Amino acid sequence: MSEAKIIDGRKFAAEVRRGVAAAVAALKAAHGLVPNLAIVLVGDDEASHVYVRAKGRQAEEAGMATVEYLLPKDTPEQELLTLIERLNADATVNGILVQLPLPAPIATPKVLAAVDPAKDVDGFHPVNVGRLWSGAAGVVPCTPYGCMVMLKASLRGLAGRRALVIGRSNIVGKPMAALLLRENATVTIAHSKTRDLAARCREADILVAAVGRARLIEGAWIKPGSCVLDVGINRVPAPDKGKGGTRIVGDVDFEAARKVAGHITPVPGGVGPMTIACLMRNTVIAASRQRGLPDPGI
Ligand code: NAD
Repeated sequence: MSEAKIIDGRKFAAEVRRGVAAAVAALKAAHGLVPNLAIVLVGDDEASHVYVRAKGRQAEEAGMATVEYLLPKDTPEQELLTLIERLNADATVNGILVQLPLPAPIATPKVLAAVDPAKDVDGFHPVNVGRLWSGAAGVVPCTPYGCMVMLKASLRGLAGRRALVIGRSNIVGKPMAALLLRENATVTIAHSKTRDLAARCREADILVAAVGRARLIEGAWIKPGSCVLDVGINRVPAPDKGKGGTRIVGDVDFEAARKVAGHITPVPGGVGPMTIACLMRNTVIAASRQRGLPDPGI
């Protein structure tokens, strides 16, 4: 059997970013509108700071405005809620992004529910979650949306295919399952209590791994010819990179799985780059809707 086609997430992301930049330029020219993304980060989680910097940089590269709020880790919940209320009421702010995870004891659901659903560019507000599951137009979470773009480009139609989503988080697993269902796939959600994960994997025409466990999914579990999307980001020791060296790997044993799958995303360079690009897309869409304009065709 020939090796899997590698789904190049960087290439897909560059295309989304080009579309976003063109949409921003058109909004500016026709309506004097510069989409403005507010980014809120609480605490000093290193990875979160890296993500927030990348998000700000990409927004600016696309011609959008950003405003950043970097708050100390002991910020009281009420202070954060007050800031969000202020951003909700500020007509110059089109999108509000609250970087997760929030430090304890802040109640994440309460904070996410405080964001105006029209400015909720992550698609985590309960109203947008409800819209997603009921099939109404809303804001779709970035990582699963990016996965769907790559999936649709790789396969001829998703209807009737057996899809396995491993992981049931509100950020990835559940919205991913909703989107696959919307495309008429036959969807199974696996999680930490699932029995015989290997058998569930072997049945899957589409496998989406969003667990956070390095190389949990073995090559022998992959159905030949299937499409594998690896969302996991795991840092592991890499002695070949010298003392203390590390590298990022996914949830799938890539080297083994690529010999069996039909299509596969690498880590890094697969799902990750699409996530931020799709956040930019959501911000432009939110800004357009707030002005009563049609969604840009990105
Ligand atoms: P999470 O910790 O919220 O959820 C993990 C899920 O995996 C849970 O639902 C749990 O039930 C399930 N799980 C745990 N152990 C399991 C096992 N042995 N078998 C089957 N299921 C198991 O994580 P998350 O926020 O959904 O993120 C998952 C992974 O995706 C992480 O590595 C995260 O860093 C990564 N991630 C990547 C992107 C991206 O842009 N590429 C975006 C978000 C998250």
